[in-house]
Amino acid sequence: MTTPYRYLVASGDGAAADLVEELCIWHDRMVAHLRRHGASAPCPCGDQDACPREDARDLWTRARRAFGPATAPLTFLRQHSGDAHG
Ligand SMILES: [Zn+2]
Repeated sequence: MTTPYRYLVASGDGAAADLVEELCIWHDRMVAHLRRHGASAPCPCGDQDACPREDARDLWTRARRAFGPATAPLTFLRQHSGDAHG
């Protein structure tokens, strides 16, 4: 499992570890989703309920709130938070 978000645990509060875990799971889902459906926007998968791009915006907002400027390197999450369905 890729763990590009582990460094954030040190910058957040008690709930940080849970959020980082969510981010890691989302990352793997998103990578698999891109392999399957490609990267064009809006997402061609047509499944808004299960699309990880739908979760990106919410996760990005929560990560910004929890970690502030420490989220600057999270370009993958930030990019996908901007091109979700409608
Ligand atoms: Zn999708």
